[in-house]
Amino acid sequence: MEDEPYFYHPLENIEDIDDFEEAVERKRLTRMLSPERPYTYWTIEIYDQENGIRGGGGLGVLAADTRRLAEQTGVPFVLITPFYPKEIHQIIQDGKVIDENINVDYHKFGYRLVDTVNIKCCDNLCPLEVIEKKFKNTRIICITEPNFGELYSNMSGSDHRLYQEVALGFGGYAALKLLGLKPAIMQLNEVATFFAALARLDELTSNGMDFYEAVVYTRKHTLYTNHTLVQAAEAEFDASQFERFVYPNLKSPAVKKWLEDKFVNSKIRLSSITIEIAELRSGVSKLHARVANYKDVAGNKVKFKAVTNGIDLEKWTMPDTLAFYKKSEILDNINYPSVNYVENLALLTANKIRELKSLGREILNETLSTRPDQNGEILSFTDEDYIFDFKRRFVDYKRPELPFKDLVKLKQILLNRDAHYIIAGRIHTGDNVMSRKLYDILSRIREDEFLNTHVHYIADYDEKLAYGLSCGSNTAINIPIVGLEACGTSWEKDIANLNLLISTHDGGVADVSAENYLNVHGTNELEELTELYKRMEEAISVWSNDFDLEFLIQKQLKAYLPIISGTRMLKDYLNYLFGDVEFFKEHLDEHKNA
Ligand SMILES: *Cc1c(COP(=O)(O)O)cnc(C)c1O
Repeated sequence: MEDEPYFYHPLENIEDIDDFEEAVERKRLTRMLSPERPYTYWTIEIYDQENGIRGGGGLGVLAADTRRLAEQTGVPFVLITPFYPKEIHQIIQDGKVIDENINVDYHKFGYRLVDTVNIKCCDNLCPLEVIEKKFKNTRIICITEPNFGELYSNMSGSDHRLYQEVALGFGGYAALKLLGLKPAIMQLNEVATFFAALARLDELTSNGMDFYEAVVYTRKHTLYTNHTLVQAAEAEFDASQFERFVYPNLKSPAVKKWLEDKFVNSKIRLSSITIEIAELRSGVSKLHARVANYKDVAGNKVKFKAVTNGIDLEKWTMPDTLAFYKKSEILDNINYPSVNYVENLALLTANKIRELKSLGREILNETLSTRPDQNGEILSFTDEDYIFDFKRRFVDYKRPELPFKDLVKLKQILLNRDAHYIIAGRIHTGDNVMSRKLYDILSRIREDEFLNTHVHYIADYDEKLAYGLSCGSNTAINIPIVGLEACGTSWEKDIANLNLLISTHDGGVADVSAENYLNVHGTNELEELTELYKRMEEAISVWSNDFDLEFLIQKQLKAYLPIISGTRMLKDYLNYLFGDVEFFKEHLDEHKNA
């Protein structure tokens, strides 16, 4: 390791004197990161199938990517999360999605059992296993036990959810102590991880620090990352649940009193106390940070710093495309846009795009070879086929059903080019509304011979399918109701892998202007639908014209490469957390230097 920091932009983010003082303060408070004083990242969900943990969606993908980015850039980093002994997979039968439970054994994924720690629940001692897996300068530490259940089991606000969250916070904090680790910073990836910061506050106070000093200290070292828009949508816990699951784990009466005072009508939302305990707060795109509507206990609107989600380009970009970016000096060796990346994108010719897309299609065919569509068909595509995809969780605001509102028009568009439309997206367990919507789409499709063979639903959406589709399809469709997507990262995988993007102007897509992709806008849904169909026709014609293809793909990359680069995201977090402290070291692995 060389000592020269990779990113050293002194006071880059300083806009006024308050910011300056804040940066100086932060520098004083926060010593350098080290293996014993790592950046700690707390998350109830990580999407990391290679390491045995399947998540639910973007929040988990972000967590897994953040750890890998820290590994690539030499940042001492520890991610603390549950290991769920059960996970849910989905199959499709007669147009209906069915959940299947699968047991997962951490021994099969290279974790080492460290020891057990105890938390208290309802007068019982609950032993939790602490397991860990190391990856160079980073590690994943998990807490688990055989009855921990699956991710997002039961309702939010239920006892079991609170148990899982308390286990992660108090159990995870005890695990760090067991391993001799002191957090330099605690990043809370959403409020389900609040109890980690509470465990720290409790420890400081019970070790003799003045309570108010302990609050200040904890606040200065805690970053709350918000992914949600509306505080009111969050489930509440009641006082009796805290009596049973939370208070038994507190040693300090002052901390207990502090918490009790935060209840309103015997109810509490974790966001309101997370805001109290975290002075640093971020939202996951520019738009989201601006519109997230949160109030602190005093009733003041909370400010969020925008740190737009990026992705680990090493993981999500097809290897040949990534190699091309590096050879052409579009990306540097840690996947940050090179100084001359805009000029160098000229090397990405239509021929090159088609050549890479052909390789991507092989990857997609490989992925689909074990995943039949709703009719039990195994799909395989040639380079001449045209593919649209819609791949994202099946939730209302993402509007999976929108393209099917006018079946005659949709059929006409697909028929003209003999194009295919692939849908992939998990339905949250128990979401009957979305199950019904999918069932209706597929029923209507089935009545038409052409549509039935050109619209495909692939069940059990996961990382592999997300990757395969982004490598192999031509055009991705992303049409959330404007204002409701926090960031989204599926579209970032599409940009990296040379797909055209059709999108509404929302989430991270809206970080730059709407001229940079095939934008869908309208003052009502009907207008948006008309626009969507127009864009689909346009996307088909772009792929048949070398000049247009080159121009649009290059334009997307010019605008979005700095945004989708996860290295940029990590750098933004580090700048926000530590001001100008120099520690972001160049990653100097032998294999990268070779
Ligand atoms: C990338 C990815 C996501 C993120 O989805 P968005 O809808 O774009 O937030 C979710 N699930 C899986 C499996 C992914 O790979």
